[in-house]
Amino acid sequence: MTYTGTELTPRLVEVYGQMDSAYADASREAGFSCAGCNGVKCCTVDLIVHTFAEMLFLRRGFRTLKISVQKHIKERCREILKAKATDPLGMEYRESVCALNLDGLCVLYEYRPMICRLAGIPHIIRRPDSSLKQAGGCTRFEDQIKPVFPDIVIDRTSFYQQMAQLEIYAVQEIGNRTVSRTISEILSDCI
Ligand code: SF4
Repeated sequence: MTYTGTELTPRLVEVYGQMDSAYADASREAGFSCAGCNGVKCCTVDLIVHTFAEMLFLRRGFRTLKISVQKHIKERCREILKAKATDPLGMEYRESVCALNLDGLCVLYEYRPMICRLAGIPHIIRRPDSSLKQAGGCTRFEDQIKPVFPDIVIDRTSFYQQMAQLEIYAVQEIGNRTVSRTISEILSDCI
């Protein structure tokens, strides 16, 4: 039986809504925008998706695209994976852009995973042992926004916790732990 994620997807969409809202608030406060950026620095091929729910949702989005676009993206995915298999540290792979970035825009914007939704703005994660993990934003944010608004960060803790809960639920339903995958790996064999 194929697991359709009927219960999982609405919860994922709810968590995505929380992320989008936090991102919009931080962007507004900072006057930050991705307008005019082709995403080449953010839309890298090595972004990893860790949860079953996100993979399911991304594949669902993929199937809404025109067949010709699906074919084109799958071909790009295969080229990216071939470059990775040949030399995972080589420039051909490392400098490739995500197969879903067409002409500078994400063709599955509404379905994009968490890693993409939260990219660009600095963040913190509060670990269970109370230590803090911090990371900076994209080049544009660090160069133009950080000097003026050094304290703007998104706290990802609750989002990660909720995604972990979704994964626990998926494992209970399916019986397997999800193998983490890149976007090309998720979509290359999508039917
Ligand atoms: S899924 Fe979309 S936003 Fe994420 S890396 Fe690919 S093109 Fe960029």
